[in-house]
Amino acid sequence: MRGVISSVRFAARCLGVEGRGQEPTVPAPAIDLSHTGTPEHAWRDVVSSLPSWSLDPSRHLRVVVLAPHPDDETLGAGGLIAGAAEIGIDVVIVSLTDGEAAFVEVGLGERRHAELRDAVRRLAPGGGVSIVRCELPDGDLADRKDTIAAIINDHVRSGDLVLAPLHCDGHPDHDAVGQVAAAIDVPDVDVCLYPIWAWHWHEPTVSVIAVSGRRSPMTATAAAAKAAALLCYGSQTTGDAPILPAHFTGRFESPYELVVRVR
Ligand SMILES: [Zn+2]
Repeated sequence: MRGVISSVRFAARCLGVEGRGQEPTVPAPAIDLSHTGTPEHAWRDVVSSLPSWSLDPSRHLRVVVLAPHPDDETLGAGGLIAGAAEIGIDVVIVSLTDGEAAFVEVGLGERRHAELRDAVRRLAPGGGVSIVRCELPDGDLADRKDTIAAIINDHVRSGDLVLAPLHCDGHPDHDAVGQVAAAIDVPDVDVCLYPIWAWHWHEPTVSVIAVSGRRSPMTATAAAAKAAALLCYGSQTTGDAPILPAHFTGRFESPYELVVRVR
C-alpha cells in the first residue's frame, strides 16, 4: 500500500466490473486515513448478509495472490493464504512492486520486501508459499497494465484461484491490478478481488461488496497467522505518524475476509 495518495480520486459508484477502465466521473475527496472513514457499524449489516465462500481444494489447485505492494497480500488475503497453506494448497504471491514510494527512506523497498518474506513465514510456517518479486515502480502500475497482464499470463495457469485487489479500491495501483486480473485470459481460472482501501471510503449499501461480495471465514489458526503477519509490517504501522494507523489496520482483524468474485 502506498502512502502518498493525496491525489487519489475515485468514482462515486462502484457496482461492478463492467465499468472497469472508465475514468472516474465525479471528483471526490482524497483517501485520508487521518479520519476513520466509513464506520464499522455501517458495514456490519452488509457483511453479515453476504453468502459465505471458501477455498475448494477439489477445484483450486493453487492460489495466486497479486499484491501491488508488500502488505496487500496480508491485509486483503492473509487468512486465505494461511488457510490454503493449512490444507496443502500451494500459494504464489506475485509481489508487483516493493512499495518503495510509500515515503522517503533509503532502502525502503528492500525493507518492505524483507517484511513480506517475514509475513509469509508467519502465514505459512510449514511452507508452501512462494514469492515472485517483480520490482515494478511503486505508484506507476496504472500505466503498466500490459506488463501486468504479461506477468499474470506467465504465472497463472488453469486450475488456479487468482486473488487481486478490488478493481475500484481507490488506489491507482490496486485498481489497475484488479482491472487486469478481472480480464485475465487464462481458461479455467477463478478470480476473486479483495478490498483494502474500499473499507475506508465505499458507501456500503451501494458498494460492489454488497452486490457481489462473499464472506470467507478464517480458521482460528489462519486468523492468528494473519495477525502475526500484520505485525511484520512495522514500516507501515509504527512510528509517530504511521502510513497505516491502527484504526485502519483494525478493519483487518475480523475473523473473515471479503472477496468479490468476478469469474
Ligand atoms: Zn497496496
